[in-house]
Amino acid sequence: MSALQHLKTVNRHKKLVRQGCFAVGLYKQGLLHDMSKYSPSEFIVGAKYFQGTRSPNNAEREDVGYSSAWLHHKGRNKHHYEYWIDYSIHNAPPGMHGMMPAPMPIKYIVEMLMDRVAACKVYNGDAYTNSSPMEYYNKGLDPAPMHPKTKAFLELFLRMLEVWGEEDTYAFIKENIVSRAKKFDDKDNLQFCLDFCERGQRRLQKDSLQHKGYL
Ligand SMILES: [Zn+2]
Repeated sequence: MSALQHLKTVNRHKKLVRQGCFAVGLYKQGLLHDMSKYSPSEFIVGAKYFQGTRSPNNAEREDVGYSSAWLHHKGRNKHHYEYWIDYSIHNAPPGMHGMMPAPMPIKYIVEMLMDRVAACKVYNGDAYTNSSPMEYYNKGLDPAPMHPKTKAFLELFLRMLEVWGEEDTYAFIKENIVSRAKKFDDKDNLQFCLDFCERGQRRLQKDSLQHKGYL
């Protein structure tokens, strides 16, 4: 029965996100992640279009032309960057289609990482590697506008995961990101955030070269 299978998939996803969030010290978010998936608007659609290997939202999109479950979900869950998309009252920058993304608080960017890792683990099964979340990110077709801070941190975390693996990445996030959330969320510190991410990417570039050198 697909309702039961869908329930199991949601529970498994929540468990994986909980483990990730707990590993970086985000306990409340770990417990409350994706609760709206149990609401009728999302659960009934999820059960009806249950797939097992990909999001039921895509099956709903193919059938109806859009996903009502996703529209319900992204409006209620702050770990999705789409939640933070506002519109512009001036001419928005090119490529933004009149939209203006607001910066996402760092704790939700971290939860977004855990969400992506968990989704890739559930859908990829044994084929999952530390590169899977980055590959999934790179496959995104013409994604909605992400705020530069959101994009810089997400890309940093995904790269870190690829190069360092889960344990070191999560330890780094707990010690250097979650504990300093105030600093990263100060609206005057955007440049500081971008510089921090760029320094991180440069360091990872060296680390990955070293990894290659050892092989
Ligand atoms: Zn979600």
